[in-house]
Amino acid sequence: MITREFEVARRLAALPPYLFVEIDRKRREAIARGIDVINLSIGDPDLPTPPPIVRALARAARDPANHRYPESEGLERFRQAVSDWYRRRFGVELSPQREVLTLIGAKEGIGHLPLAVVNPGDIVLIPDPAYPVYRAGTIFAGGTPYEMPLRRENGFLPDLGAIPRSVLERARLMFLNYPNNPTGAVAPVSFYEEVVEFARRHNIIVAQDNTYSEICFDGYRPPSFLQVPGAKDVGIEFHSLSKTFNMTGWRIACAVGRAEVIEALRMVKSNLDSGAFQAVQEAGIVALSMAEEISRRNSAIYQRRRDVLVRGLRKVGLEVDAPRATFYVWLRVPPGQDSAGFVARLIETAGIVATPGSGFGKEGEGYVRFALTAPIPRLREAIGRLQSALG
Ligand SMILES: *Cc1c(COP(=O)(O)O)cnc(C)c1O
Repeated sequence: MITREFEVARRLAALPPYLFVEIDRKRREAIARGIDVINLSIGDPDLPTPPPIVRALARAARDPANHRYPESEGLERFRQAVSDWYRRRFGVELSPQREVLTLIGAKEGIGHLPLAVVNPGDIVLIPDPAYPVYRAGTIFAGGTPYEMPLRRENGFLPDLGAIPRSVLERARLMFLNYPNNPTGAVAPVSFYEEVVEFARRHNIIVAQDNTYSEICFDGYRPPSFLQVPGAKDVGIEFHSLSKTFNMTGWRIACAVGRAEVIEALRMVKSNLDSGAFQAVQEAGIVALSMAEEISRRNSAIYQRRRDVLVRGLRKVGLEVDAPRATFYVWLRVPPGQDSAGFVARLIETAGIVATPGSGFGKEGEGYVRFALTAPIPRLREAIGRLQSALG
């Protein structure tokens, strides 16, 4: 028998190399050497899902009505709960039937959106650095990513005026993500106003990822893109229950906004998946009804952690801005070092794992991301080790 060499499809080969593999290898080596590794690289809450949500799932799981295929657009009652929450939280009115779609995680919706609205050869505007799924979804749909640099001097907002005309002529979709992973930056409403005007002028669909809107500090409350008049004519917003309610493993989120885009995404989903487990949607309804309380409690925990870590990092002479939202701290690496080298040095000399900024795009080079997903004693321990290692 002749066996041919195996080759993956070109669209898989076109994905950027996964930089985190190397870091993960170093982390496992350190653990094998007996080092008590402090892992600050994970964008996944260490806190458990609040008990009322877990109880709601247990109850709903016992109901045989929930054992069958769900509707791909999601339970109407879940979509109503999303709509109610958007009204309470942002003052935004959404039709549960036409302007809300249940997702199996925001990642699923982000990954599928380009299949719904991008033709091969179309350009998709993507922030750099960014959550990697915007690029992967674009490549899977045959689109061409165009990176919009996020730089500190612009508050990590893209400079829309710097995008060349030739790019704008072919641009079909723009991803945004505020509060931002990995930089921790937030966007003012005035930026969203600029985006709506820009998207109208150039006929670009906007997809704003608001996954971190409920993890916020010092009394600041991140806005919704849809608060801006006209936003619903140009785009959609993603929201996820993952980070807000410590439910990353549950796979439940939503897309809301422009009805035609929501319908196009629903069509893709109805051909590829059969929707989110209804019992999880039932639990999601309970979660959304408690959003204010849970957001306040979680944010208070992350704010204390942020204060400990930011103060500690500054004390050891590292340059860092305190984020007003998200659970990430975006640190400038000391001069003369690159992201991957600095992260490797942190693992080897202090047993601390962080994420190299370059893993989020070339503009992330020179930065490192710390996640606040570890308790305060671990953060203090990390600072102590940094003092010995770098001091
Ligand atoms: C974690 C994360 C998501 C994914 O959320 P899920 O709903 O768990 O799929 C989406 N966007 C950003 C920016 C994230 O950091």
